[in-house]
Amino acid sequence: ENTPVITIDGPSGAGKGTVARIVADQLGWHLLDSGAIYRVLAVAIQHHEVSLDDEEPLIPLAAHLDVQFEISSQGESKVILEGENVTDTIRTEEIGELASKVAAFPRVREALLRRQRAFSVAPGLVADGRDMGTVVFTQAPVKVFLTASAEERAQRRYNQLKEKGFDVKITRLLADIRQRDERDQNRKVAPLVPAEGALTLDSTDLSIQEVVNKILSFANEKL
Ligand code: C5P
Repeated sequence: ENTPVITIDGPSGAGKGTVARIVADQLGWHLLDSGAIYRVLAVAIQHHEVSLDDEEPLIPLAAHLDVQFEISSQGESKVILEGENVTDTIRTEEIGELASKVAAFPRVREALLRRQRAFSVAPGLVADGRDMGTVVFTQAPVKVFLTASAEERAQRRYNQLKEKGFDVKITRLLADIRQRDERDQNRKVAPLVPAEGALTLDSTDLSIQEVVNKILSFANEKL
């Protein structure tokens, strides 16, 4: 309960994941990538061939999700679902899309609350997602809302995929990002909005290091 938490919320592609990892490393704190939990749930839904038409059958799946987050000997983080390594699988556009659909169900979100809160252990936690500051860790002393223009986010995603050898159209990525923003911002439960008291940072023209520094000095003021 008294563990300090830094929440970093924002739309997909704003750089939350990268920034959260560096901030957590620098402070020696734990890290929660809450989007990964929704993505793992999406993979579980595919594996078990559960339909998204009804919320009911999704709840036990969310509540009993058999997922482990591990750090390999090389320091790489690994995601294991039901004993299977799904680290790469959860990062596809298809799974991101499915995750965003399943994330709109209120009782699914509720079923994942306890699991997320369990990450808050000493000496501290950096949590990134959409509702870390507004729902999951409302008591967090440090809240950040990280954004960037949709064009910049599409460009970053394009560069990432290109590097991995994927052939993608940037216009398609931009359309996907806009659609996901729309769904995450307008859903009834835990919509993507800045938490009260959050520091809003627009990373469009900032380097990763600049964003990290701004968050660390804001945290310094607040902690
Ligand atoms: O951040 P990431 O793109 O990995 O998240 C995938 C999807 O999971 C998001 O589009 C969003 O709909 C959902 N999500 C959420 N709440 C969070 C984290 C992710 O609804 N805290």
